[in-house]
Amino acid sequence: MAEPRYPDPSITVPERVLMIQAHPDDCEFSSGGTIAKWTAAGAEVIYCSITSGDKGTKDPDITGEELIVLREQEQLEAAKVLGVKEVIFLRYLDATLVPDLKLRLDLTRVIRQVRPTALMCFDPTTRFHGDGYINHPDHVAAGDASLAAVFPSCRDRRTFPELLEEGLEPVEVPHIYMFGTANADCWIDTSDYIETKIEALRKHASQIGGADADLSFVYEWNRDNTTRHPNKPDGFGEYSEAYKYMHLG
Ligand SMILES: [Zn+2]
Repeated sequence: MAEPRYPDPSITVPERVLMIQAHPDDCEFSSGGTIAKWTAAGAEVIYCSITSGDKGTKDPDITGEELIVLREQEQLEAAKVLGVKEVIFLRYLDATLVPDLKLRLDLTRVIRQVRPTALMCFDPTTRFHGDGYINHPDHVAAGDASLAAVFPSCRDRRTFPELLEEGLEPVEVPHIYMFGTANADCWIDTSDYIETKIEALRKHASQIGGADADLSFVYEWNRDNTTRHPNKPDGFGEYSEAYKYMHLG
């Protein structure tokens, strides 16, 4: 049996976490239990939301500007439930995200400001799940730009020298947790935090069909399911969240 990696990413609580999402609610759907667990254990967690979800409605009477205000407020309330310290909104436009150099620069700036010991982002290699879900292109773009910002832009002095002029020195991020992955190799037991995750998700009322919506599918997503995750080790509780983990440096 292979030697366990040190530190074991499934049980280690990072000191400072930056969670980068494409849309308000991505953090809670993918990782709400993990975030609640880590903040309860003393981690400092900061969100960066690249868009504010201005396309996320079927209501013809709400404008994009109104939706931005609503969804940012929902996101702040959900983050509060999970103990998140701060939410940074970059206000890119929803559904048109591309992993260009402007986005890479903006994410490099945020990472150098926050100086996280762990970064959470989308797995950019996930183009679809199973036979019924095309991954949102904003998720792919967000993951791609996040990884490019971590390596090499955050590390290198000569990349984006304007950040040095802003007083933002290079930084290396050792722990990467990618969510929305089809190649999970790290599971975090979130059994004690599934209700906190649900409570946070209910703050995204505009996205889940109202605050009283049926969220039973979230329990199923997070249930210890060895059919979906044949490589998952034994010994977890009823609910867990799955990541592709990397340890850099
Ligand atoms: Zn999303």
